[in-house]
Order: sequence, then structure tokens, then C-alpha cells
Amino acid sequence: MFDVDAVRRDFPILAREVNGRPLVYLDNGASAQKPQAVIDAVTRAYSHEYANVHRGLHYLSNLATDKYEAVRATIARFLNVAHEEEVIFTSGTTEGINLVSYGWAAPRLQAGDEIVLTVMEHHANIVPWHFLRERQGVKLVWVETEPDGSLDPQAVLGAVTERTRMIAVTHMSNVLGTVVDVAAICAGAREKGVPVLVDGSQAAVHMPVDVQALGCDFYAITGHKLYGPSGSGAIWISPERQAEMRPFIGGGDMIREVWRDRVIYNDPPHKFEAGTPGIVQQIGFGAALEYLMALGMDNIAAHERQLTEYARARLKGLNWLQLQGDAPGKGAIFSFTISGGAHAHDISTILDKRGVAVRAGQHCAGPLMEHLGIHASCRASFGMYNTEAEVDALVDALEFCHELFG
Ligand code: PLP
Repeated sequence: MFDVDAVRRDFPILAREVNGRPLVYLDNGASAQKPQAVIDAVTRAYSHEYANVHRGLHYLSNLATDKYEAVRATIARFLNVAHEEEVIFTSGTTEGINLVSYGWAAPRLQAGDEIVLTVMEHHANIVPWHFLRERQGVKLVWVETEPDGSLDPQAVLGAVTERTRMIAVTHMSNVLGTVVDVAAICAGAREKGVPVLVDGSQAAVHMPVDVQALGCDFYAITGHKLYGPSGSGAIWISPERQAEMRPFIGGGDMIREVWRDRVIYNDPPHKFEAGTPGIVQQIGFGAALEYLMALGMDNIAAHERQLTEYARARLKGLNWLQLQGDAPGKGAIFSFTISGGAHAHDISTILDKRGVAVRAGQHCAGPLMEHLGIHASCRASFGMYNTEAEVDALVDALEFCHELFG
């Protein structure tokens, strides 16, 4: 059973007040709060177990290396990866997707080759591909979402031509909450011989993920949204694609031998991890994933499904509020504007005065804003520790806001 009150007690920050009101933290889509287990793991690592990794022959370096490398296996378990060497540590999804853009796509793609994207991608899954457009003449092919915010897998597959070299798609929209049928896209893409990169930044927080069942080639996650430290993350890359990749960032650790006239790279995954990594961040990330797996991703998903339906019903009851995204099975992310033209920043400031933290702006989703015909929106994004009482607090604050703006 999922006990939300017990979970809340594990997050010290949730007990604090903001602007004289109990904190209602609904900005989890931007970054989630950290449980005591993560805070303790980070404190322990710095207090008792810290040294650089992979480099020393002394006790602390070996200890830190063991703790750090153990996280690779934890991530593999979390994503149901077959072999932990397929997990590459990154500082987050942004670095993971850039690794694929620079390491896999840039050396392989020619002018006129195509990458299929959807209009609801985050900038992290757009800009690295724009680099290839600017520098190499690669063409970006955009797939629109349906009016309710859902994405038809057949529309994605229908955009594939003989020049398509990759499909890069989010597993869950950070604005609309839409959950994409990635397995259907991957099945069709495989028949056409097109690799699929999945941006799992949002989805992995809210549901169990099995990369083998999805059938994708690349799956990127980011630690700070998964209740871990910022600067942590990983990308799973299939062995087949890893074999096709060249390293992205050069430096220590990714190299076995360096001579004046040649270099010999380390074996994967280290080949793709240069320099001193986010040692303690990844150790904290491991603690976060252990915490999530102990609760059970199925249990978290069930709790959030209930919360989503409650929030959806309550927000739909506000006839002066326009929700962006109402796809069946959507996750706990609600973006909205309010009739009468109140700016998203003003709405979020007023909500903040009542202790309710939401995000306002473009949400790093320029093409989606253009597709929706809006400049900005507010976004309430829920996490596993949120409650129906907090949905009520959001609705109360919105009603206050609506009265204020007339
Ligand atoms: N992709 C999606 C869907 C996101 O929501 C985010 C973060 O907001 C990112 C990518 C980028 O993640 P990070 O900034 O942690 O690298």
C-alpha cells in the first residue's frame, strides 16, 4: 500500500511554510524535492566516503568508486536494462541527448537526412538536433499533436521517409502531460530500420519503465526530477548503437592510453564519460532510485493516477480556465491559462503568495507554444507526495486569482 502521509514525512522541506502558508509544491516537473534518504546519502558520501573515482589505489578512492559504480547497477534495475555497462552516467537528460547528437548522429548524418520530432519536445530534445540542421544540413521533420494533446504513433511513423535516420520523441510531455505510446513507435520504427531516442525525463518519474519492452535505442533520464540531486542522470544506449558511437567529450577516464600521435579509448561505458564525474550527485541519485523502487513504481503510478483524475475533474470545473492537454491516460501535469488575459507570471506570483508553487512561462517548449497559439502558461506538476488536499489548495488559490483579475 502507498501511504502518502508516510512518504511526505520523508521529505523535510514539505513541512515548511512559504509566505506564511503551508508549502504546496506543484513544480515537480521542473525539479522534485529530495527525501531524507537522498540527503543522508549525500551527507554520508561527503562526510565519510569521498575521494575521486577510478583513479586511486587508496582506500577512500576505492570506496567512492564502489559506491559510485554501484549506482550503474541500480539504474539498470530501475530501467530493466540487461547489462549495467549499457548505462552511461550523465549530468542529466540534456547531456544525454547531446551525447547522442554529437556521438552517434553527427558523424553519421549527411545533408538532407531527416530526424523526426514532435512539436511537444522539450528544448533539450530539439536544440541538439538544430545543431545538426545548422552545421550539417540535416532536416527536422515535425509531427503535430492531436487537439486533445495526444500523439498518434501512426502520425510519427507516417513522417518517416527513406531519408529518416532517427526518431526523437518524449515519453511524456512536460507541458501537456501526454503519455506517448513509445512501444508502438519503436515497433514500427524497427520495421523501417530507424533508431528511436526516447526522452524519459518526465515519464520515468511517474511510471515503471522497461527499456527492453519499449524496444527503443536510447532512453535518457535526469536525476533531479527523480527526487535525486541536480547534476545527476543517465542515458541507456543499446550495445548496437554504442558500437556505432564515437566519444563526445574528451579527457580523463574515457581514455586508456594517450600518446603524442594517438589515443586508445577506454571501453564503454567509460568511453563516453570524460573527466571527474558528479560522484556524490550520482550516489544521491542511486539512493533516490532505491527509495522509489522500495515504494514501488506501480504503487506510485496508482497514487498519481487517482490524483490526476481528481485534479482533472476539479480544474475542469473552473469554466474560466483553459487546460492545455487532455489526452486519455495523461500524467499529473496540468498546464493552463485563465480567461481575461491574466499573464501566467502574474498568476504564479499570486499563487505563490498563497504557498502554491507552480511554474509559469514557455516551459522550454517553444514549438509547442506556437502549436497551441499561446505565449505562456502556468503549469502545476504533481509528484508522488502530493495530495488531493493540495489540489484543493491550488483550486482555491486559482479562484482567488480569478476574482482578483475579474
Ligand atoms: N526533457 C524534458 C521532457 C524535460 O521536462 C526536461 C526538464 O525540464 C528536460 C528534457 C531537460 O532535463 P535536464 O535539464 O535535467 O537535463
